[in-house]
Amino acid sequence: MINSNREKAIRRITLLKKHFDPSEDFNRELDNCTFDFDLALRVVNDLRPKVHHQVIAAVDSIMKQNHFKEKSREAARFKANYWVKKILSELYDRGVLTPHKVIDHPDLLNRCIMGISPFGGEISTKFAIQIGLYLKSIKNMGTEIHQDELLRAATLEDYGCFCLTELGHGSDVSKLETTAHFDPISNQFIFNSPTETSRKFWIGNLASTATKAVVFAQLIINGVRHGVHGFLIQIRDPEIHEPLYGLTIGDCGDKIGMQGIDNGWIMFDNFKVGKNSLLNKYADISPDGVYTSTITSKAKLMAVQLGSLSGGRIAITQVSNDCALAVSSGALRYWAVRKQFKNPKTKKETRLIDYSINHYRLITRFARHFVQHAGIAKITEFWDQFLQGGSGPDNKMTGFAHLISSVSKAIYTWNTFDTCSEGRQACGGLGFSSYNALGSIIPVMDLNRTWEGDNNVLMQQAGKLILQNLAYVFTEKPLMPTFEFLTSEIPLVTPFRKTLNDVTNLLKLLTIRAETLIHQTGMKLQFADDKVEAWDKLLPFNIYPMTFAYFDRFLLQNYVDFLARLEEDENTQKVFTLLGIVFAQKTITENGEFFKDYLTNGQMEELKETLMENLAKLRKEVVGLSYLLPFTDKMQGAISKFDMKPYKNFLDFVEKAERKSDYNFDDDVVIPSCS
Ligand SMILES: Cc1cc2nc3c(=O)[nH]c(=O)nc-3n(C[C@H](O)[C@H](O)[C@H](O)COP(=O)(O)OP(=O)(O)OC[C@H]3O[C@@H](n4cnc5c(N)ncnc54)[C@H](O)[C@@H]3O)c2cc1C
Repeated sequence: MINSNREKAIRRITLLKKHFDPSEDFNRELDNCTFDFDLALRVVNDLRPKVHHQVIAAVDSIMKQNHFKEKSREAARFKANYWVKKILSELYDRGVLTPHKVIDHPDLLNRCIMGISPFGGEISTKFAIQIGLYLKSIKNMGTEIHQDELLRAATLEDYGCFCLTELGHGSDVSKLETTAHFDPISNQFIFNSPTETSRKFWIGNLASTATKAVVFAQLIINGVRHGVHGFLIQIRDPEIHEPLYGLTIGDCGDKIGMQGIDNGWIMFDNFKVGKNSLLNKYADISPDGVYTSTITSKAKLMAVQLGSLSGGRIAITQVSNDCALAVSSGALRYWAVRKQFKNPKTKKETRLIDYSINHYRLITRFARHFVQHAGIAKITEFWDQFLQGGSGPDNKMTGFAHLISSVSKAIYTWNTFDTCSEGRQACGGLGFSSYNALGSIIPVMDLNRTWEGDNNVLMQQAGKLILQNLAYVFTEKPLMPTFEFLTSEIPLVTPFRKTLNDVTNLLKLLTIRAETLIHQTGMKLQFADDKVEAWDKLLPFNIYPMTFAYFDRFLLQNYVDFLARLEEDENTQKVFTLLGIVFAQKTITENGEFFKDYLTNGQMEELKETLMENLAKLRKEVVGLSYLLPFTDKMQGAISKFDMKPYKNFLDFVEKAERKSDYNFDDDVVIPSCS
C-alpha cells in the first residue's frame, strides 16, 4: 500500500514536471504517508470546478517562475498589463473560456484567475479589476443599452476601472462627495469633485491603463439628492490615450507593494456625459427628467448596486487560502530537507520538520488552511446559489451572501497574512529572498485585508447579521443557512466529559461556544440603554469573539460533512480527520478562557498533550498531503519545489539572476474577437 502510494505520487508529480528527478528526501517523505494518494487527490480536486484546473494548466504553460519583483514601477506595470493580455488570449485560444462565458460567469473567471496569484498577485489583481469589478458592475447595474460594453470589456477592447473610494471616504461609501447633476435641457450629467476629499483615490488601472470607468457619485436632479448611483463613462481619448476635457487624472505614486497596479486618482470639473451613462437597472430618469426607482430606500439601493460585487470577496477568500497553503506546505517541504543542530541522543543533525515547536508553528496552520480549503468550496456553493436568485432586492439569499462573504474574507485574509509571515520566518534567511515566493506574496496578502471591504468593518457587518438570526429564532422566522444549530435556549453550563480527541465531540464544543456567545452578546445588546454605544463597546470582547466562534463552528461542521467523501478508505479518512481534530484542538486551546467553565485544568492540559501527539502523527503525512493541492511546480518558491532539491534550485535562480533577464515580451498578443 505504502509503496503504491509513493508510485502514484511520483506519477502525479511526473505530470507536474516532465523531467522529474526526486530527491532522497522526497522518497522518504512519501514513504511516510499512510493515505491513499489517488482517492485523496480525486476528492481534493473535486473541491474546485474543472475549469479552475484548466486555467492553472493554461497559465502554467506560458509563464516562467515569476516570484521576483521588477526593479522599476514602470517595468512592473508593463509586465502586469502584458500578462493580462497574454493569459486571456491563451485561455480563449485553448477554448478554456470564451468572451460570452466570461460575461455570463464573471465570478467564475475571477475565482479561477485569482488562483494564479502565486505567479504574481499583480496579474490576478488586474483581472479582478477588469472582470470582477469593471465588467461585473456593468453587468449588475446596466441594462440592454450597455450590452456592447460587456463584450468590449471581455475582449480587452476597453480597459476599465472601478471608481468608488474617495480620499475622504472608503468604508462608508454612502458619504461619497462626487456629484452628478442631471441637466434635463441638454440631457446630460455634469460631474464635479466639490472638495479635495472628493477626489477618487486608489483606483486600480486608472493612473495609466484605463480608457473607461465605472464611477459612483451622488445623483442630483433639480436640487434633489437621490443617493449614490453608478455611471459608466469614457475617461481617456481612445486614440491618443489622454484624459478627456473636464478630467484631471493622476498617479497615487509609490506603494509598499503591488507596484504593477497603476493606482490613480481622478477629479471632475464640469465634466459632461450623456444620459445613457447612468447604469440604470435599479434607477432611471424618464424622458421628461423624472427620477424613478423600484427601490425606495437609498441604503437598500446602494446595497443592491454593490451587493453582487462582493463576489470579489469570495475570490480573495479563495486565493488567500491558496497562498497560505502554498506557503505553509512549501515551507514544510523545505523543512523536511533542512537540518539544524545535532540531536544529543542520536548524534545526528535534526531536520527542522522534526522539532515539536515547528509542528506547532506550521502544521497547525497547514491543518487550518486545509479545513478552510474545504470551507471555500461550500462558501462558493452558497455564493452561486445567491447569484441564481438574481441581483434584485427580492433575493432571499442577499443577507446570508453578505454575511458569509464578509466573515470569510476577513478571517481567511487575516490568518493567511499571519501564515505567510510565519512561513517567511520558517525559511530563515532564504525566506527573505524574492526567489522563494514569500516576499512577493506578503504585500498582496497584506492588501487583501483592506480592499474589497476593510476586515474590521466586515467583521461588524457579519456580527450584525449573525445577531439577526438570533432575532429570527425568537420571532420564528426562517434562519439563514448554517444557523441550524441555533435555538432559543442558551446552552446550560455543564462539565464536558467526552473524549477530546474525537472530531464530533470537538464540534459539539465549538457549537456550545458559538451558541453561547451569540446568546450572551444578543442579551447584552438587548438590555443596553444606549444601543449605539453598547455596540461600539461590545466589539472587542463580545461581537468579535462571537463572530469568530460562529465561523470556526461553520468550518468544522463543513469539514465533518466533507470527511464522508473519504469513507472508502479508512486510513485516508483517518489522516484527513486528524487535520480537522488539530484545527479544533488548537482553536479550543486558544479560547481557553471560554472553555474553563466546561473543561477542567486537567482536561485542558490533556488536550494540549493530545494536540502535540496529533501533530507528530501529521508530521509524517504533511509533505505527501502538500502534493494534493492545486499548485504547479512553477508556482512554488525555488526552495520549496516538488523535487525537494532546495539548494540546487535556489542556486540556479541566484546564478541566473546575475545574467540579463530572459523575459521576451512579444508585443503582438491578439485577443480573438468573439463573433
Ligand atoms: C492598493 C489599493 C488598491 C485599491 N483599489 C481600489 C479600486 O480599484 N477601486 C476603489 O474604489 N477602491 C480601491 N481601493 C480602496 C480600498 O477599497 C479602501 O482603501 C478600503 O475600502 C478602506 O477604505 P479607507 O481606505 O477609506 O479606510 P477607512 O474606511 O478610513 O478605514 C481606516 C481604519 O478605520 C477602521 N474603521 C472604519 N470604519 C470603522 C468603524 N465603523 N468602526 C471601527 N473602525 C472603523 C477600519 O477598520 C480601518 O482600520 C484600493 C486601495 C488600495 C490600498
